[in-house]
Amino acid sequence: MYQGKPTALVGIDLNKKTGSYELRAEFSNGDIIKKSVSVDKREKIEAPLGIPEKLGGNTKASQDKLVSTLNEDNKKLADIRTNVKSLWTEKFIPPLKQISVTSDYGYSRKTGEYSIPHKGVDYRASEGTEIMAINRGVVRITTTLRNHGKTIVIDHGQGVMSFYLHLSKIKVKVGDVVKLGQIIGLSGQTGYTLGAHLHLGVRINNIAIDPVKFLELFK
Ligand SMILES: [Zn+2]
Repeated sequence: MYQGKPTALVGIDLNKKTGSYELRAEFSNGDIIKKSVSVDKREKIEAPLGIPEKLGGNTKASQDKLVSTLNEDNKKLADIRTNVKSLWTEKFIPPLKQISVTSDYGYSRKTGEYSIPHKGVDYRASEGTEIMAINRGVVRITTTLRNHGKTIVIDHGQGVMSFYLHLSKIKVKVGDVVKLGQIIGLSGQTGYTLGAHLHLGVRINNIAIDPVKFLELFK
């Protein structure tokens, strides 16, 4: 229930085949609601991205290492337990007081022979900027990963999760229940970054969706 209405959020993967899909919701009283959804083609945008010296610079070896370790990082963030009930009742908000997108969701970063999809959004945030929880939830992961750097994962319940990457400081611990807008850490440039910023990811049932479009739903 959101603002008095039964509400469902469905994530559609970046690589979902185009076409028409039927969504079907079945209620406990037996009612069924069906809705047709069209998945359209997304223009493929590719941009080169270098590897910083701290991760080996632009060599074939460091490109290979980047891709293999990215897979390891992502495995550690896959299949996170989610609360069966929604933990939030208010609107989702952006994670920073000042919002400026520096790198959109969905384009591919060309790194040598690899093309790595950007499955989150980058916001301008100088080192040490306060990062807020985009809604109420429970902290599932606080960790430091090679490429994602210092990372926090918040579970908002019913499969909705938010991911905060490249932080310089983490101010929460696993199991903490965080409030909407609570300061959870400080931005930084840990892991695979070419400078300080905040990477925000949002997943619905483990599908990484566009955080900017997601936040627009609640405006
Ligand atoms: Zn990013």
